[in-house]
Amino acid sequence: MKISIVGTGYVGLVTGVCFAHLGHTVLCVDKDKAKIKMLKKGVCPIYEPGLEEMLVENSAEGRLGFSGDLKSAVEHGDIIFIAVDTPARKNGEADLSSVEDVASEIAPHLNSYRLIVEKSTVPVRTSKELERLLDDLAPEGAEFDVASNPEFLREGSAIKDFLQPDRVVLGVNTQRAASLLVQLYEPLNAPLLITDINSAELIKHCANAYLAMKISFINAVAQICEKSGADVTRVARGIGLDKRIGMEFLSAGVGFGGSCFPKDLSAFIRLSEQMGYDFKLLKEVEYINREQKSLVSAKLKEALGTLKGRKVAVWGLAFKPDTDDLRNAPSLDIIESLLKEGAGVSAYDPVAGRNAQKFLEDKKVKIAKTALEAAGGADALVLVTEWDEFRHFNLPELKAAMKNPVFLDGRNLFDPKRMRNLGFKYIGIGR
Ligand code: NAD
Repeated sequence: MKISIVGTGYVGLVTGVCFAHLGHTVLCVDKDKAKIKMLKKGVCPIYEPGLEEMLVENSAEGRLGFSGDLKSAVEHGDIIFIAVDTPARKNGEADLSSVEDVASEIAPHLNSYRLIVEKSTVPVRTSKELERLLDDLAPEGAEFDVASNPEFLREGSAIKDFLQPDRVVLGVNTQRAASLLVQLYEPLNAPLLITDINSAELIKHCANAYLAMKISFINAVAQICEKSGADVTRVARGIGLDKRIGMEFLSAGVGFGGSCFPKDLSAFIRLSEQMGYDFKLLKEVEYINREQKSLVSAKLKEALGTLKGRKVAVWGLAFKPDTDDLRNAPSLDIIESLLKEGAGVSAYDPVAGRNAQKFLEDKKVKIAKTALEAAGGADALVLVTEWDEFRHFNLPELKAAMKNPVFLDGRNLFDPKRMRNLGFKYIGIGR
C-alpha cells in the first residue's frame, strides 16, 4: 500500500520504517529540512537501536522515501498518518497546533479519497476538530475519512514494539477506513481492536495514565518501606506475581519522565476538567511523582550534611535507557535541585550526553566523556538512568575514583548488601 507519514520523530520515523519493512511504499515528510537531509543520506537523526540499519535497507530497496513538502504526502499516500508532536501547553492541556498545521497544509490538496490517521497522541474528540478543519479547507466535494490509530511503542524498544504489538487500536467511523487499516496492519498478525474514534483516542490517554499511576503507586509504597524497614523490590515482586497486577511498571525509583507520561497525564487531567470531572486520582499521581524527584537532593543532604560546595556525579541523563531523548527527563529536575542546593554537578550518559548541552545550556553542569570521569573526586553519585553500562561497571574502580563513596541508586539496580560490602554508603529507594 502507499503510505505517507507526516512527522519523522521517534514515532513517525519508526512507523514509516516499519511499514516499509512490511512491504508498503512509504513517504516520510517533515518540516524540519535538516532532518530530511540527514534521512535522505541514510543517517538516523535519533538514537533508536536497529533503526538506522532498517532505514538504509528499506531506502535502498526503494520502499522508503523522504520529503520536506506536505503536498507530496497527499500525492503519494492513500493513507496519511499524522505523527507530529503534541506537547503540553503551560496550563497542562495538549497543544494541538502541529496537528492543526498539518491538517491545514494538506487539506487544499485533497483531490481524491484519502484516509487521514491520527497517530499522534491527542485528547478524545480531537478527530471532530480535525474533520471540521479539513472540511473547511479542502476543495469542494473532497472525499476523506479521519481515523485514530494511537501508538504504544516505547523508545529504546520501538521497532520490536511496533512489529510485535500487544494490540493495534483502530478508531474508525466508516467501513472504508476500517478495511484500509486492517489491510495495512495485516502482515503484523497482531490483535486488532476496531472501535469508534472517541474510544480509540481515549484508550491512549487511559493507557499512559494507568501506567503512570502504577509507578506512582509503587513509589508511594517505597516511602512506607523506608519507614517500616521493608524492601520495595520484594514487595513489588510479591504483588506483581499476582497475574491481576503484573510485574511491569512496579519498579520504585526517582520518578517517571519522558516525552509522553508527564504531558499525557496533564492533558488527560485538563481534558477531564473541561468535561466536568475532577480526576483527583491522577492529580495525586502527578504530586507523588514530583515528590519522588525531590527525594534525591533530600537523601543526599542527609548523607552529606550539606550539598553546598559538594561534587555530585549524575549517571544517566536520558529519561530511560536505550534512548537519547531528554524531554522531561527526571535527571533535569534532579540536576536543577542539586544546583539549587549549591552542589557542583558532573554528569554522564552513554548516548544522551551530546543532546544534553541543549537542555542544560544555561546551567553549570559538566558533561563528562566517561562514567568514571564523571565520578572522579565526587562526594556522592546518583544513578538516574539504568543503562546496561552501569549495571556491569567495575565497582571497586568506581569506589577508588570517588572522594566519598556515597552511592544513591535511583533505580535500585544494585544489591545493597554487596554495595555495602564493597565499602559504599549505599542508599536505595524504598529499601
Ligand atoms: P517528535 O518531536 O520526536 O517528532 C515530531 C516531528 O514532527 C518532528 O520531526 C517535527 O519536525 C515534525 N513536525 C512538527 N510539525 C510539523 C508540521 N507542521 N509538518 C511536518 N512535520 C512537522 O515527537 P514524537 O516523540 O515522535 O511524538 C509524536 C507523537 O506521538 C506525539 O503525539 C506523542 O505523544 C506520540 N507518542 C510518542 C511516543 C514516544 O515514545 N515518543 C510513543 C507513543 C506516542
